[in-house]
Amino acid sequence: METTRITPSRLAKRAHYDAETIHSILDEALFCTVSYVADRQPMAIPTAFARKEGQLYIHGSVGSHFIRQIEQGGPVCISVMLCDGLVLAKSAFHHSVNYRSVVIFSEARKVADEAEKMDALALITDHLVPDRWADLRPTTESELRKTTVLAFSLAEASAKVRTGGPNDDPEDASLPTWSGVVPMQTVRLTPIPREGEEDIPLPAYLVQ
Ligand SMILES: Cc1cc2nc3c(=O)[nH]c(=O)nc-3n(C[C@H](O)[C@H](O)[C@H](O)COP(=O)(O)OP(=O)(O)OC[C@H]3O[C@@H](n4cnc5c(N)ncnc54)[C@H](O)[C@@H]3O)c2cc1C
Repeated sequence: METTRITPSRLAKRAHYDAETIHSILDEALFCTVSYVADRQPMAIPTAFARKEGQLYIHGSVGSHFIRQIEQGGPVCISVMLCDGLVLAKSAFHHSVNYRSVVIFSEARKVADEAEKMDALALITDHLVPDRWADLRPTTESELRKTTVLAFSLAEASAKVRTGGPNDDPEDASLPTWSGVVPMQTVRLTPIPREGEEDIPLPAYLVQ
């Protein structure tokens, strides 16, 4: 859905609205920031999430202030970003970032159906560590009751993508200042076992 509020006012050529681009960014990012207004106070809360088809799921304690605020409904804006590189130009003005980001306008739907709730919790767990859910003891009724799961439609969303090198002014081209891109990515390092449990073998899904 293309609406006025998801149309960037600047550099619209970097904007994308197709599900493929939006979903691929959401599937690679591990965390999102959920923004809303409570009592005229803007709030922006980082949290884990997962996507299934055209929906994004988050979870939290039933006692969480943030979850209780947004489960009542009302406008929510969710953003996600992946930083692919720092773009170093010859002037401060033209420094930039290579990124892939998504902005979503939506409203929370509290997931009441137990099967959908459990499915969402598995999705969130496996989004962070693929194949982890199947390795865990089953979630109990009591744990499920203590957890709220919220779903958000991705119908009103935009992606923005910047790639490439610096765009310097032609008159700066001969300056001897180094320019180019410092690539960036999120990398998983070697897992560290819990103290005293070094004999438990590392599961295949954690072997890099
Ligand atoms: C890692 C990172 C660093 C950035 N650093 C800067 C910076 O230092 N200075 C700066 O001015 N900009 C920066 N940006 C770009 C910034 O996110 C905005 O896109 C930009 O400020 C211009 O937005 P606009 O005025 O066109 O958007 P607006 O007119 O304010 O937004 C209109 C609509 O466009 C869409 N939109 C705008 N930006 C994005 C986005 N990034 N991703 C998805 N949808 C979007 C949203 O749907 C939004 O509601 C950065 C982006 C990222 C991801």
